[in-house]
Amino acid sequence: MAKTLVKLAEQIRSDDPIVKYEGEGVEVLRSVCKPVKQVTQEHAELVARMEEIMHEANGIGLAAPQLGILQRIFVYDSGDGLQAIINPVIMQRKGEQVGSEGCLSMPGLYGDVLRANEVVVKGLDELGQPVRIRAQGLTARVIQHEYDHLDGVLFIDHADPDTLHYASPDSPEGEDPELRE
Ligand code: ZN
Repeated sequence: MAKTLVKLAEQIRSDDPIVKYEGEGVEVLRSVCKPVKQVTQEHAELVARMEEIMHEANGIGLAAPQLGILQRIFVYDSGDGLQAIINPVIMQRKGEQVGSEGCLSMPGLYGDVLRANEVVVKGLDELGQPVRIRAQGLTARVIQHEYDHLDGVLFIDHADPDTLHYASPDSPEGEDPELRE
């Protein structure tokens, strides 16, 4: 009973908020997240906190399960401002692109992933308003990466195994924020 009184944003660990793919984090990141029944003020607060954490980590995308919250919510900012999508559904996938991806839950690991080049996604924003977004290139990549997180799917599941490698944070690749999701 008491647990339901804890606000969503307050469930996020303050010291090291991003769940890593190790130990108990494996089960969290492999969970299928539940749809949000009703978008409330709590979700707006959660999205604001997700944005802060994503920017602090120099990421361009972040899904709620990466903070230990198993709800179908993700945020991204690939350069055109923050967008949050609650209960996303990918309606359309077109074309192909291959590019390097990393994940804030797997620091330093990178690999090439084949994705659709264009997607149409619909869902709700943090105020509960319907959104429908058509995205291409990097933004489409981020959306597909974050969407996968909601089903417990990680980029390593799709990556070309021959390209998976660790890069140090000091390398040009490790410094590229575009690769961190
Ligand atoms: Zn990720």
